[in-house]
Amino acid sequence: MPPPEAQRRWAGLPAAGALTLGQSPDLPRFLALPLLALARVHRNGHAPFAPGELRELLARPDTTTGELLDAHPSSVSRAIREAKTRGLIAPASSARCIVLVDALHTYGTGSNSVPRCGHD
Ligand SMILES: [Zn+2]
Repeated sequence: MPPPEAQRRWAGLPAAGALTLGQSPDLPRFLALPLLALARVHRNGHAPFAPGELRELLARPDTTTGELLDAHPSSVSRAIREAKTRGLIAPASSARCIVLVDALHTYGTGSNSVPRCGHD
């Protein structure tokens, strides 16, 4: 449990900044996932993604050519699994919807329109 003062303090994170940081090629993918989710989270804590979208958002440059390559599906799955294990995202998260943990999201904030995401 964080100290009482830390529990009262808030810090905002602009969605555009979260997206930029989440797409940093040097960032481990399991750390990128909560940032990418913060960039689009809805008030219910869910951040839906289109099929294959996380593969694109987690792309990394080829070490030889520098060409940006989508993440392999197994890399996305591994990142999701590791982020869950570390408590960075909720166990219900999948490649189609990252669910933020309470420590990173306060319900009631974010967009008023909550799209369907498969968890409904
Ligand atoms: Zn969802």
